[in-house]
Amino acid sequence: MQRLPVVFFGHGNPMNALADNAYTRAWRGIAQSMPKPRAILMVSAHWYIPGTFTTLVDRPKTIHDFGGFPKELFDVEYPAKGDPALARVVTELLGNSASHGVAPWGLDHGTWSVLIHAYPDADVPVVQLSIDETKTASHHYAIGRRLRELRDDGVLVAASGNVVHNLEAFAWGRRVQTPHDWALRFESEARDLMAARDFEPLIGYESMGEDALRAVPTPDHFLPLLYVLGASDNDDTVTFPVDGIEGGSISMLSAVFTC
Ligand code: ZN
Repeated sequence: MQRLPVVFFGHGNPMNALADNAYTRAWRGIAQSMPKPRAILMVSAHWYIPGTFTTLVDRPKTIHDFGGFPKELFDVEYPAKGDPALARVVTELLGNSASHGVAPWGLDHGTWSVLIHAYPDADVPVVQLSIDETKTASHHYAIGRRLRELRDDGVLVAASGNVVHNLEAFAWGRRVQTPHDWALRFESEARDLMAARDFEPLIGYESMGEDALRAVPTPDHFLPLLYVLGASDNDDTVTFPVDGIEGGSISMLSAVFTC
């Protein structure tokens, strides 16, 4: 079986689920550029809890984990099946890192707002893996290393977050949407480090200086990237099908590592 790429999606605004724009078309393009996976393992910024869990269910529910959006966004359903066998394999792979049992979660908008474009027929089973908020960045990278072998088994290892995600600085409403300099610089720096496979600074992002502190004020949307870096290989090539800053302070950068 062909070794699958590993993908980081920059998801941004949940309303992208309903949009047809450069981002959503690029997400579709990412899926079309690779063999169809038999299943997807997704790490979403929006399942950030104390503990490492998988969604061990046949039919994960679509979770509308936000407020203040139009009814049509709450009406979105993404009816992909689960894959309990894969969830068990992931738990085995992670050993003591993972908690067993059925986690009370389904597919959150970090997952479905992207997959509704990448796989609009919802015909690829999806398992989510939570991000343990009590662990260090290097722990999350190490989990990514252990997930690497799934790529040989027809599983698309993917993560959804944003490399730059500062909602305080976000241009809500009619404020000017010019990207902040620090947002542009940090996106560019992260991209260069990925292209050079120089991951250490990204794993230690908290020491990357002032731009990093503004770009990553909380870890939840950045940490998914570390799973993807961990699951990448030395001889993978990386491409960036999407980049750009939304609302001044959210990077839409997506990265695809292909063998
Ligand atoms: Zn988000």
